[in-house]
Amino acid sequence: MAEKMRKTKILATIGPASINEKVLNKFKDYEVNCLRINTAHGNFEQYTKAINSARKIQEFCFLLDIKGPEVRIRTKYPIEVTAGQVVPIGFNKKEDAYFSYDFYNEVAEGDKVFFDNGQIEAKIMLKKDQKIHLKFVEDSVIRINKGVNIPNKELKIPSLSKKDKQAIKYAIDNDLDYIALSFVRNKKDVLQLKKILKNSDIGIISKIENWEGVKNIDEIIQESEGIMIARGDLGVEIPEEKIPIIQKQIIDKCNEKGKIAIVATQMLESMVTNKLPTRAEVSDVANAILDGTDCVMLSGETAAGKHPINAVRVMNKVAREVENNVEKNIDLDVHGNMSEELSKSAFLLLQKSTANKLVTITRSGYSASLISRFRIGKPIIAVTDNKKSVRKMALVWGVKPILLDKIPKSSMVTRVGLHLLKRGEVKKEDFVIFFAGVKTMQEHVSNLIEIHYIKDLVEWKKKVLNGELKKLP
Ligand code: ATP
Ligand code: MG
Repeated sequence: MAEKMRKTKILATIGPASINEKVLNKFKDYEVNCLRINTAHGNFEQYTKAINSARKIQEFCFLLDIKGPEVRIRTKYPIEVTAGQVVPIGFNKKEDAYFSYDFYNEVAEGDKVFFDNGQIEAKIMLKKDQKIHLKFVEDSVIRINKGVNIPNKELKIPSLSKKDKQAIKYAIDNDLDYIALSFVRNKKDVLQLKKILKNSDIGIISKIENWEGVKNIDEIIQESEGIMIARGDLGVEIPEEKIPIIQKQIIDKCNEKGKIAIVATQMLESMVTNKLPTRAEVSDVANAILDGTDCVMLSGETAAGKHPINAVRVMNKVAREVENNVEKNIDLDVHGNMSEELSKSAFLLLQKSTANKLVTITRSGYSASLISRFRIGKPIIAVTDNKKSVRKMALVWGVKPILLDKIPKSSMVTRVGLHLLKRGEVKKEDFVIFFAGVKTMQEHVSNLIEIHYIKDLVEWKKKVLNGELKKLP
């Protein structure tokens, strides 16, 4: 018999280390739920190859990470610098090394510049002839395409570059599921992306990686389907010791609103080179799950590391071990929208009654998130007739999405229940809560709770078949 479904979702970045059949097959075995493509690296040809190989194996959910207002160092080859060395770097694409965004007029001598998630530190000694002269603190190697941070500067970078717009079109054309927007500063950044996505049902995950994003977190959550706590850049832009609390606060806020939370970066970093994780890394993954994150992410470990399969194996087993101990106290007294309100009743019923499962009938998956946020541990089955919603729920904790060709308009609950019985998703002896939206004027609104013994639904069907009853209730 197959093992019980893991509740915590895993998002793995794919790159040279994982874009091949063998590794992707293992990703399936270890139940990687969603694949992340980082448009800071590689090219569209590579992504297409990756998507095609993965889709042959399973209908993975795909998240395309676009770069938004970020700065990178573009170099043809890794540059070695020594402690104290001063290196002039400019913004001209013809040079061997240049910055991807021209911030010459926005920085001053004395400002600090960091590379590669803050690992390399330099100071601006001089600005001359459109070049900044950087003095490096330690011997280091600046690798190709690494991220650049200039803390405490609100640079005037447009929120979407030309390349980002290409990537957005690529996501739409290739039926991808989520776009993760980097360096989100406020809701305007999100709304601009939304405008381009128009009526596409691609979900927006906002990456929080600087102070502005942290400060404006409420309005950003409101406009997004989920939040990624991108700890790499965040730990450069603000003191790293503040991150553990910020992580907990953002996860709490996401849980309160039924929005997806993803914890990212350096979760099993040492596995980029080592076969086994450190104890500290294992604890970090475990603690993120105990904080209430929906999803944990792997970055370089699976994109470019030596042990991508081991990394997902470790994440899978750690998640399985700790996920039944998550405790979440959502404040029931805070008023929300109609769906939020009703989900509280469904939760209380699920928690306090002998009901052993919940089935939500959903179009977008939002009502599944609203139930999931209570982290009850009883199975949540989300039935939808929308293929993309099935894939998108790959990021929602504890939810098992099920595709139905069509959600029946009449006798909806009874028919869905019987269908799930046929598919083995519920059993005759199950006592199930149904949570759905019917007859509402607005989209995505849940307003119905029913509770049934599945065996009763079977009885109804028998009565219809032997003519005792005209139609299913
Ligand atoms: P971000 O800050 O957006 O996470 P990153 O540069 O830290 O960007 P990751 O997505 O964390 O990148 O991936 C880790 C490393 O894996 C990258 O720095 C890069 O060297 C490599 N990598 C990732 N994706 C690809 C790819 N598609 N092609 C080539 N190398 C890749
Ligand atoms: Mg990173």
